[in-house]
Amino acid sequence: MPKPKTVKNLKIPGVEPPTTICNDPNCPWHGSLRVRGVLLEGKVEKVRAKRLAIIRHTYIYFDHKYKRYERRSKKIAAHLPDCISVKPGDTVVIGETRPISKTVKFVVLGAKKTT
Ligand SMILES: [Zn+2]
Repeated sequence: MPKPKTVKNLKIPGVEPPTTICNDPNCPWHGSLRVRGVLLEGKVEKVRAKRLAIIRHTYIYFDHKYKRYERRSKKIAAHLPDCISVKPGDTVVIGETRPISKTVKFVVLGAKKTT
């Protein structure tokens, strides 16, 4: 098992590093999971299964036929490390990572700072 490490400085804009330390190997702050690809923002919909959160990501799509923007949203399953606690309704930043399971290829990095 991996031993507790220090917090890695991931330099994610708008996200503070977590204050607690966890033993989750799939934690981007304390484990060996690397974040690469896109960073997305979304709202937490469900926190049910262990270390899993369902995030709703809302984005704007341009329809070329009608030359208008429309709002679209999709649900993204994201890994929730032990050191990060969120509840439904929170706005969080998620980062793309390697596939952790069949549907999980994002990880919750923390709550979005509201300033
Ligand atoms: Zn952690």
